[in-house]
Order: sequence, then structure tokens, then C-alpha cells
Amino acid sequence: MKLLSLIVFVVLIPFSSAYSLCHDNFSDFAESKLRILTQEYHPERVGSKDRPPQARALNPLELQTYSIGLYDAFKGAPAFFRKQLCVFDYVFIDPDLNPPSTRAGRTSPGGWGFWADLDQQGQPQSAIGLSARLWEQQPDFASHETNINAAVRGINRGRYQGQATYTSARLGSTFGTRAAGFDTTLLGILAHEAGHILWRDQDVFRQRGCYTSWKRLSHRVADNGRFQRFGIFAARSEPRNRDSVYNIYASGEWASLFGTVSPSEDFIESYKLNVLDLASPRLEVLRVQDAQSGLDVDVMSQIRNPSTQLHMKKECFIRALNELAVPLIPY
Ligand SMILES: [Zn+2]
Repeated sequence: MKLLSLIVFVVLIPFSSAYSLCHDNFSDFAESKLRILTQEYHPERVGSKDRPPQARALNPLELQTYSIGLYDAFKGAPAFFRKQLCVFDYVFIDPDLNPPSTRAGRTSPGGWGFWADLDQQGQPQSAIGLSARLWEQQPDFASHETNINAAVRGINRGRYQGQATYTSARLGSTFGTRAAGFDTTLLGILAHEAGHILWRDQDVFRQRGCYTSWKRLSHRVADNGRFQRFGIFAARSEPRNRDSVYNIYASGEWASLFGTVSPSEDFIESYKLNVLDLASPRLEVLRVQDAQSGLDVDVMSQIRNPSTQLHMKKECFIRALNELAVPLIPY
């Protein structure tokens, strides 16, 4: 009996490597999923017959560089999210080889990510990209969120009153709290881009009535193409409430101002906060202030408070995700 189980064990290992080990161990994740792009790549052209990404494994020095923050992001991610990452084909480090003229309109400050459906070989693939520029600044989570917020307001000039500053982002621990650093920034970006892939090819959130913050809700494909450009308002859907930074955050209804641009970003930003809420250590505090209007709220208290609309919306999104036939697999 003992011999038999030993044989089975030995035989099974080579076949189970990619998925089953990836999520338990950062070096397996890095080996099977992490790649660096070697040529310019345009995720926004996905769906056309543009070239698939050209990439290679990281050399030891690159692995050392890009493990900064990423190692802790992966280790601290909730188990379901580590599994989700391992279902995707790749996580690319993008050294931003694209000419600057083609970057306009899809980049966000402090780095960006992309998701892609790469079907050139007739095979759906999914991937997330992380800009290599992130490692130059290594922004902490509060700074990164403030920058994203400012960039969304900048793109939609005059459409939002007020100015949001994330004044505090803190991780919980047994000894109190500590500032949420670059690892939380990376986990947030990974969760955001994973959210795009999860959202993309199904309509379950609309069918389940999760979009309670929208007064006009179009069918999914009416709002965005296959690639959602950074910060661009949905073409057809209309939220109930996005006139001012104060109302967005004080209402306890939105994960972020970014979430108000489209139903997809509404789901994605809620999903991201849920991942950070379930991480260990979890994101304990995420304080947003606007001095002019007197806004001062903790978004994490809101998402945990069962009486807020944000909490109910998040619960609806999770129920809908769990009802998918294979919730972990995006296709
Ligand atoms: Zn997005």
C-alpha cells in the first residue's frame, strides 16, 4: 500500500505542476507565470489580429528586482486570489517598449496594468501586465490610489467636484497597524486587472441586479469594447451619483471614484477592495479626505458595514461570481 501511494505520488507530480503548485509557492508562480515582454505590445488592440505578446522568463537579476513587493503581494493574497492568478496564462512585466505616442489614453500614473484575450492561435488566453515603471517609484498604496483618482478626474475634467486624497492606508496586524506599502499597490493592481478578465465575457452581474448604483444600465458590450481605456466613461450606462467627490465617498455606495466611470469598473474596484479585505494582513483602513467639503471617510469600514450599499453590492458580486459554472476560470 505504501509503495503504491509512493508510485502514484511520483507519477502525478509532473502533470500537476502549473496550477496546483503555483498558488502555494512564489517561486513556482514566478517560474510558471511571470514573464518579461521583449517587444512592444498593444493590449488595446486585442481582438484585432495584432501580434501576441513576445516574452521570455526573467533572468536571476530581473527576478530579484521584480520580486520586490510582488513576493509579499503574492504571499499576502487570499488563497482564492492566488489560485485565480495561477489560472491565468501569464503575468507580464512590461518594460514599456511602446513608442510614447501610442501610450496616450491608456496609461495611469504610478504604473498601469492590462488584461488581454489573446486568441491568435484560436485559443483563449488571459494575461495581466504590470508596468516595469512601477518598480522605479514603488508607490505606497495611499499615494497610488490618490494618483489614480487624480488621473480619472483629469481625464474627465469638470465632471467631478472636489478633490480626493487618500490620507491613510493601513494593514492590520496583531500589534496594531502599519502603512500599506508597494506590495499592497501591486496586489491592488493585480486584483483590478484580474477583475477585468472576470468581468469580460459574461453578463451575470447585470442579470443578478448587482448594479444598484446605476440609473441607466446598458448591455455589457454597449459600454466598452474589449479593452476599456483608462478612466473613460461608459458610453451608454449612467450612474445615479457621481457629481462630487464628497457624494461619491460619503454615500457609502462606491469602492472608489474610479468605480463610477463604468459598470465594469464598479465591479472591478469592489472586487479589488474585497481581495485586499481578505488578504493577510488585510487592508484595515483606507481613509479618503477632501479638505474643501470636509469629507473624511474610511472606505474599508464602509465595505465591511452590512448596512452600506457598497457592502450589499460587493456581496451581490461575490454571489454572482460563485454562481458561475467554474468561478475560478475566466472562460
Ligand atoms: Zn480598470
